[in-house]
Amino acid sequence: MSTALPVVALPTTGGCADVPVLKERGQREVFCGLTGIVWLHRRLQDAFFLVVGSRTCAHLIQSAAGVMIFAEPRFGTAILTDRDLAGMADANEELDRVCTTLLERRPEISTLFLVGSCPSEVIKLDLAKAAERLNARLLPRVRVLNYSGSGIETTFTQGEDNALKAMVPYLPASDERQLLVVGCVADVVEDQFRRYFEALGIGPVRFFPARRAADLPPVGPGTRLLLAQPFNGETVRALQARGAQLLPSPYPFGGEGTTQWLAAAAAAWNVNAEHFRQVTAPLQARAERGLSRYRERLAGKRLFFMPDSQLEIPLARFLHRELGMQLTEVGTPYLDRTMVGAELPLLPETTVLSEGQDVEKQLDRVRAVHPDLVVCGLGLANPLERDGIATKWSIELVFTPIHGYDQAADLAEIFARPLERRERLAV
Ligand code: SF4
Repeated sequence: MSTALPVVALPTTGGCADVPVLKERGQREVFCGLTGIVWLHRRLQDAFFLVVGSRTCAHLIQSAAGVMIFAEPRFGTAILTDRDLAGMADANEELDRVCTTLLERRPEISTLFLVGSCPSEVIKLDLAKAAERLNARLLPRVRVLNYSGSGIETTFTQGEDNALKAMVPYLPASDERQLLVVGCVADVVEDQFRRYFEALGIGPVRFFPARRAADLPPVGPGTRLLLAQPFNGETVRALQARGAQLLPSPYPFGGEGTTQWLAAAAAAWNVNAEHFRQVTAPLQARAERGLSRYRERLAGKRLFFMPDSQLEIPLARFLHRELGMQLTEVGTPYLDRTMVGAELPLLPETTVLSEGQDVEKQLDRVRAVHPDLVVCGLGLANPLERDGIATKWSIELVFTPIHGYDQAADLAEIFARPLERRERLAV
């Protein structure tokens, strides 16, 4: 068996690995962690997410997940009223009553997440205690977990990290050698990845989270972690504390990225080099064919990432290396080297890497470099469009399947579309 995999060896030093990072701690323009419920509830088909929050929280979730008005959704908000906030009502009693009614009406729910918000934190409603109290009554039929999605503590994708971390203590212990793919992916992506791992002879493979929240994968010293999302740092550390080992790798965005990601697992499983090439080369070639027409449109275009989803660094790598885009600034809310250490050497060292945000200063930098495209949150898009700069809402990147070979062209399309629209408007 050979472990020398015939993929292009990528640099592990240089690039942006050692460049100074511009750190900012000012006003931020980013969604709170409640937003994660929108994709988490689609993935976890037996879970319910109950936000314990205000009408503002309810509006955020309703508008972010507007499509769900046609189905009975698996999320809701227990609204804290003035009486709760003033301490005049027993919010714990109310919460227990709401949960009981909900679970009676929805017998298919096996996991109930109580999701904290700014108001529940401000009145110091102890959701961990509430979960404990409810579990004493409801287990084993329903498990109640809690995490914070509040805007005081979390940004955007950190909601997923907190939800997964809340599940880690309940994963069964096992020494079995297994690959655990960490991070929410679309079901279609899981199916594709499973096929690739099977073709490579890598297994058993489990996904965390699985499609059902009640299907908790085991974890232990035989577990090797392959990360599908770059924003689950706390979950990864909790899994490492349970004995799992991380396989450092770029993320599976684009053809090259997906091959490198599979190669990290293949190396750990001693997959024969020629076999690896036979399985992955046609898949990568197909992805490259799909990307070629976007490369013509995107190469040389200047790109600026505002810090938002924590997907910025892996996506910047994909857009630069596979589509020839020029990176001006790549901002990220948090720069976690455990999570993106394999990506940083792949960014050109001329890239400005920034962590955190001082939004006015950052907007000044955007205007100064006047990029062709800015990837940002919804709140910043309109002012930038008004200034003649094309924008892409980062939220689309977490609502759309973007991982793997077959989605590579769709991912490129997400960035090509706003540029084309602007070009058409300019005619
Ligand atoms: S959790 Fe906080 S930031 Fe998020 S919607 Fe509710 S009030 Fe707003």
